[in-house]
This record gives sequence, C-alpha cells and structure tokens, in this order.
Amino acid sequence: MKWTDRLRASLARFMAGRYGVDQLGYATVILALALTVLGELFRVVLLKLLADALLIVCFARLLSRNRVKRAQENQLYLQKTQRARKAVREWVNRVKNGKRYRYFVCPQCRARLRVPRGVGKITVTCKKCGNRFDKKA
Ligand SMILES: [Zn+2]
Repeated sequence: MKWTDRLRASLARFMAGRYGVDQLGYATVILALALTVLGELFRVVLLKLLADALLIVCFARLLSRNRVKRAQENQLYLQKTQRARKAVREWVNRVKNGKRYRYFVCPQCRARLRVPRGVGKITVTCKKCGNRFDKKA
C-alpha cells in the first residue's frame, strides 16, 4: 500500500460520520477570501478577523457530526439565496454565450428570452406569455 493510499484511508476514517462540504461551506470560503483581500487592500484588520471567524465556522461545520442540523442550515442558505444564485447563473450564461445569442426581455411579462445572433430582423415570440415583438438579432 502506497503512503498516499494510507493517507487517503486515514482521512476517510477521520471524516466518517462527519458532515463535510456543502454549498454554504463553499460560499463561506469565498466570502472569507473576499473579506481577506478587501482587508489587505484597505488595511482593515476587522475584515481579516471576520474572515478568520468565518473560516473557523466553516471548519466547525465541515467537521460536525450533527449532519441533520448542518443540512438544515444549508437548505436555509439555498432557499434564501435562490434568486441571487439564479441571477448569477444567468449572467454567467449570458457572458459565456454572448457571441452566439442575443438576449431580450419580453415587454409584456419581463421574461428573459434568447435568440440566435446573426439571423437579421425577426419576430420574437415569448415562450411564457405568447407576446410577439420584432427585434434585430
Ligand atoms: Zn412574455
């Protein structure tokens, strides 16, 4: 058995029954990193302390054996941030597909619509409400 296999096995034994990482954990680490960078940039010690506290909380959750409570916390986080996470996902998709698609908002129901670029003048039909309007794509 290689030493990496032994290390992996001992880590697996250590983590058995513990909660591990979830979306709230990732968000906490990203927030802590952002606070650390901001704290360094603006020389604010309080931000760095807050970042350290967040990392401690993150590790405490990661190593916790109370899996039900940690899962409830994660569910609450997912519920409360659902709209913001969707907005970020849509923005990332727009940036990624910006060369292939044009994006419009339906003037009637505010639904976001996507059409292929370079098709010229088209009539867009909203999938949500059926409203039709002319656009140049
Ligand atoms: Zn519509």
